[in-house]
Amino acid sequence: MSFSGKVKDELSKQWSQARHCQIAELAALISICGAIVIDSRNQYGIKIHTENITVARKVFTLVQKTFNIEADISVRRNIIKESVSYSVIIRKHSDALRILQATKLTDEYMDGFEEIHIVNPIIVRQTCCKRAFLRGVFLAAGSMSDPEKSYHFEIVCAAEAMAVQLRKMICGFSMDGKIVQRKKSWVVYLKEGSQIVDMLNIMEAPLSLMELENVRILKEMRNTVNRKVNCETANINKTVSAAVRQLEDIKYLQSTIGLEKLPEGLEETAHIRLSHPDATLKELGELMSPTVGKSGVNHRLRKISEMAEKVRQDQGGLL
Ligand SMILES: [Zn+2]
Repeated sequence: MSFSGKVKDELSKQWSQARHCQIAELAALISICGAIVIDSRNQYGIKIHTENITVARKVFTLVQKTFNIEADISVRRNIIKESVSYSVIIRKHSDALRILQATKLTDEYMDGFEEIHIVNPIIVRQTCCKRAFLRGVFLAAGSMSDPEKSYHFEIVCAAEAMAVQLRKMICGFSMDGKIVQRKKSWVVYLKEGSQIVDMLNIMEAPLSLMELENVRILKEMRNTVNRKVNCETANINKTVSAAVRQLEDIKYLQSTIGLEKLPEGLEETAHIRLSHPDATLKELGELMSPTVGKSGVNHRLRKISEMAEKVRQDQGGLL
């Protein structure tokens, strides 16, 4: 199962105890996947349509638990698209009306607001209800990327007003939600790992939260190790290229003036370097008699390179 699927599975099992929160969650699900059906006799019905069975189950159970209403379920198989979709249907006028009034999703409750809202702000006034609402919204229209690959959380809204209201709600929890238009929808998204962790906490998905945190810790450790390795590799390269240059200089002196022309200490250093091309300065010093410290060896090698440079100049750069 994808990480997104796991989060949804966990969220579908999460139940708010308070009735106000249950109503907020149902309001989210109906406002995203629901349709109000009004027949010729002005009788109301509600139809909630989804391709996700966990969402269908959640809607069915919320309607049952919160309102004591038994909804109908219809399953439709699309052979061409090889998909299954589910509809939770509330057919009875009085039942539908009861749900619409409680969730304040009928027009009479939506009028009179200066800003256009998809959900009546009264429904999500309390923090507990906002959390339940966000859970419902994510179940109905959200997705997350696999944290091993990247950090991305999004909720796809069919209307801009919904995206604006959602973003405001998310930002109210000190997160930096953003909106981007994608074809005919508006997408509210989060990009930062730490904010997605917060979001999972708000929606109450503790197991997914722990899984995400584990991935984040491992990723961070991997990055630190990589940085260290890169740093050490750079140092090794530096040592190697210095040794290569030294060897070139020594061989050059050997073929021009001859190493025996070098002062005693430098001659010894040159011979030892030639026979130990991979040794570090410290190791070279220990091979000498008497032993020489690291900086002493460094000094001698620099002298050799200076002499080589001088001979090169005397030779007019011909050799
Ligand atoms: Zn509440």
